[in-house]
Amino acid sequence: MKPAPFSYAAPHSVEECLDLLSRYGTDAKLMAGGQSLMPLLSLRMARPSVIIDINRIPGLDAWEVTGEGVRIGARVRQRSLERDRALRAEIPLMAEAVQFIGHPATRSRGTIVGSMCHADPAAELQVCAILLGAAFRLRSHSGDRVVSAEEFFLDALTTAVGEEELVEEVRLPLPVVGAGYSFSEVSRRHGDFAMVSVGCIVTRDAQGRLDESAVALGGIGSRAQRFRLGDYAPGATAVPALFADFARHVAETIEPDADLHASTEYRRALAAHLVQQGLDVAASRTESGAQ
Ligand SMILES: Cc1cc2nc3c(=O)[nH]c(=O)nc-3n(C[C@H](O)[C@H](O)[C@H](O)COP(=O)(O)OP(=O)(O)OC[C@H]3O[C@@H](n4cnc5c(N)ncnc54)[C@H](O)[C@@H]3O)c2cc1C
Repeated sequence: MKPAPFSYAAPHSVEECLDLLSRYGTDAKLMAGGQSLMPLLSLRMARPSVIIDINRIPGLDAWEVTGEGVRIGARVRQRSLERDRALRAEIPLMAEAVQFIGHPATRSRGTIVGSMCHADPAAELQVCAILLGAAFRLRSHSGDRVVSAEEFFLDALTTAVGEEELVEEVRLPLPVVGAGYSFSEVSRRHGDFAMVSVGCIVTRDAQGRLDESAVALGGIGSRAQRFRLGDYAPGATAVPALFADFARHVAETIEPDADLHASTEYRRALAAHLVQQGLDVAASRTESGAQ
């Protein structure tokens, strides 16, 4: 199918973009990489009367490290997570996750922020944002606000972004010193959305406790979910069966939907396997390199 007719605007500044958003409100749709929006238009699942293309707004294509973490502008492509060694070093979890997103062609246009704004519950970058505790800077003529990932992702394809708001950047904390990260998933074919995906961080405090170690899972419901090891086994250090027990607990706690790709039980089995394996891999990447 062809998209329904729409007008096209390509603002050259954030201010101009916000003017357009406040003028058109729900009639408008922002376009970043277009990799999710264009299929929705073609299927007529979205019928905005105006497309606001943010690709000519200067400054949004930059990322930087500040005292608070890494700030990634709304036009930074997913491909940068593969190609830019400096960026990869700042967010090792996302650098590992990006290989699972679509294909080189989609990653070359698709943006990091656009993926999060689309809020597909199986999207790899949503899992990363929830696990790492990302925050989003939203701008509109009514003011700026910063929203945590937990508040940002409301439901499948639904975020806290208001109709007149632009997500200007996502903010990610710097890697935890000495921590190990891993990302893995199972999908029917490489490049397909994941049936289940799992991001892991393993970290120890000065006493060797694993409390802040955590996992986040995607593809298991309407949004990604995070589980902290310290909530399951407070004060645990290196117990032989700890990761296996925690993985079983996570798999029993989630309520994955069944669809034509996988049953609820199959998704639970995948979750248990991926969580245990992911924690083992992340533990092997910690500074001490052991569980
Ligand atoms: C063949 C194919 C395979 C794919 N496989 C995967 C996959 O395995 N995993 C995966 O996660 N994704 C996958 N995708 C989706 C892809 O990664 C998209 O890049 C991503 O979902 C959206 O990013 P985008 O920059 O293209 O956003 P767009 O398509 O431009 O926008 C998506 C939505 O976000 C909104 N939006 C975008 N930027 C902003 C902003 N700054 N502020 C407010 N709202 C904004 C838009 O209005 C729109 O509603 C695939 C796509 C294709 C075509």
